[in-house]
Amino acid sequence: PYDVLVVGGGPAGASAAIYAARKGIRTGIVADRFGGQVNDTMGIENFISVKYTEGPKLAASLEEHAKEYGIDIMKAQRAKRLEKKDLIEVELENGAVLKSKTVIISTGARWRNLGVPGEAEFKNKGVAYCPHCDGPLFAGKRVAVVGGGNSGIEAAIDLAGIADHVTVLEFMPELKADQVLQDRLNSLPNTTVLKNAQVKEVTGTSKVDGISYIERESGETKHIELEGVFVQIGLVPNTDWLGDAVERTRMGEIVVDNHSATNIPGVFAAGDCTNTPYKQIIISMGSGATAALGAFDYMIRNQ
Ligand code: FAD
Repeated sequence: PYDVLVVGGGPAGASAAIYAARKGIRTGIVADRFGGQVNDTMGIENFISVKYTEGPKLAASLEEHAKEYGIDIMKAQRAKRLEKKDLIEVELENGAVLKSKTVIISTGARWRNLGVPGEAEFKNKGVAYCPHCDGPLFAGKRVAVVGGGNSGIEAAIDLAGIADHVTVLEFMPELKADQVLQDRLNSLPNTTVLKNAQVKEVTGTSKVDGISYIERESGETKHIELEGVFVQIGLVPNTDWLGDAVERTRMGEIVVDNHSATNIPGVFAAGDCTNTPYKQIIISMGSGATAALGAFDYMIRNQ
């Protein structure tokens, strides 16, 4: 059996595996797509100490670093079940069952897509999902934020300090965000909120030049000229495969304590799949390190 088995090979998983392997313990990592969401990222400017890098380059460095240690790397494999017996078992979709003394779940998350024409086409060409990451690219430009929940309104407030103008589009008749956030947004001079607005299309040629939406009350289609669209309609954790094996929130995020431990002894979790706030590369890597040290601590106390 492994001492530490990491499920997921994004920044959290890579960091967890490297931290574990550096303790000289038997470490494995199973990843559907090594590098995770980082593969889909163009410019990265907030990975501290690296002024600028690109997703595929960082993803390759994660793997290269992991290969420095004797980590058993299993790529293009998906886990489908976790069960705590004497050891912890992780079953893969190919039928193999891996056994380990401790498991670190780092299966990440994905942004919920709008699913309208233009969204996929203009990803990284004006369509963005992360205001902390891509906000500065829209300095002095006009942007829309789709989604009026807490993350949408936080994004709009954040972007209003950078962009020329921010339009929020919410499908429902009311915003769902906390009132304090709505009040803050309404106090800003360069923001507009459109409720009952159903996004129809992101328009553009080589990059985004606008957004079309249906005014649900009148049924009329309208168009706004702008340079950026931030989609903020939710981040979905990749945790369905766990079923009831570990405690998750209503949103599906794995509940962890400050040692990255879940409710199941020996099972830890890190990164975007957990209920820790702020989903970022540097934060995922930090939590991966915490989970590995937590798992090591657990092991030396439970041998
Ligand atoms: P992920 O990166 O989601 O990795 C999850 C891993 O688990 C992958 O290897 C995946 O294949 C694997 N996996 C999933 N399910 C299974 C399964 N059942 N079995 C086996 N493996 C599985 N953050 C920044 O800090 N700066 C940025 O500039 C930035 N830009 C971004 C741009 C985009 C377009 C996106 C989508 C995200 C961006 N982020 C950015 C966020 C950042 O990428 C994430 O916070 C980070 O990748 C989370 O790392 P993670 O390891 O927790 O999860």
